[in-house]
Amino acid sequence: MSGTADHGGRSALADRLARVRAGVRDALRAAERVDEPALIVVTKFQPASLVRELADLGVTDVGESRHQEARVKSAELDDRDLTWHFVGQLQSKKARQARSYARVVHSVDRVSLVDALAGDRATDDEPVDVFVQVDLEGSPERGGVPEAEVERMAELVLARPSLRLLGVMAVAPRGEEPRAAFARLRAASDAVRALAPSAVSISAGMSDDYRDALLEGATHLRIGTAITGSRPPAL
Ligand SMILES: *Cc1c(COP(=O)(O)O)cnc(C)c1O
Repeated sequence: MSGTADHGGRSALADRLARVRAGVRDALRAAERVDEPALIVVTKFQPASLVRELADLGVTDVGESRHQEARVKSAELDDRDLTWHFVGQLQSKKARQARSYARVVHSVDRVSLVDALAGDRATDDEPVDVFVQVDLEGSPERGGVPEAEVERMAELVLARPSLRLLGVMAVAPRGEEPRAAFARLRAASDAVRALAPSAVSISAGMSDDYRDALLEGATHLRIGTAITGSRPPAL
């Protein structure tokens, strides 16, 4: 069924979701992959009502990048069985609060954040799943550790029993072909797997580059506007 030719009363949101899912299947075929990557729909700046619609359409994983907004929205939707992913930069002093709604934090890139997320006590809560964010651009203001420091950050995470290292995460750099950058992320992933054989995940791929990310092994896609439509302006 073609996502574009369907006028059976399906919403624009459902159409865009179907189109992205078809695009993902296409890229997986091109990559000769048979696994099923996780689709995290990034809903930052979008109202809770849109997240609810996504849940009605079968979306199970949503991503947010601002703590205050994520806290409010996840509380508003706590009647839904959604997994909340924190994908933006996180202040250490907000980390404990973020733990209360986010099951996965994709943006671990500082010792202070590792400490804050891990908490003081050893393992009183469910472990938090984390990715080490890699800076593929050399622009620290966008978050991430330099490629040369990924293993050191991974080791710090591995030393904390209350954190579970899933793998590495990155945003495609500006001014570089995404596929080439994601190949470097894959190399960082290989280095991390040598330290922690279970940390096999790669969080990469947004609306404009998820095909390239899938061709380089992405296991967790973070897709916003291609599914949600354009974002309302930030408050
Ligand atoms: C906003 C955002 C996304 C989604 O971006 P789109 O271009 O809307 O798909 C993914 N990852 C992070 C870290 C983001 O901040």
